[in-house]
Amino acid sequence: MPEAWVCFVCGREVRVGQRFTFVSKGPVHLDCLEGLAREGGVYSGDVERLFRALKTLLDNIVLFRELREAARGEAVKSLLHELQKSSEAGAAKVTKLIESNIEL
Ligand SMILES: [Zn+2]
Repeated sequence: MPEAWVCFVCGREVRVGQRFTFVSKGPVHLDCLEGLAREGGVYSGDVERLFRALKTLLDNIVLFRELREAARGEAVKSLLHELQKSSEAGAAKVTKLIESNIEL
């Protein structure tokens, strides 16, 4: 992760431990992306469902990272890293579908 990522919506820093994702315009906080969907009047139905799925995935990413950093055993660290990566892959897919519904 580079020294400083900046959310393209609010202009504030995006840090590890926060819920954020990446769209074509760059990193964005989950809350900021949700704000865009609400402003655009598309925060309902399937888009709302996608946001709920994304929230869960982003929470999992934060959790798996914390657990991995605290873990002692290599096998445990490795498994938690794998779980984090698969949640990241899932979050990327969900974000892509959300992005196709929002005007950025
Ligand atoms: Zn933001």
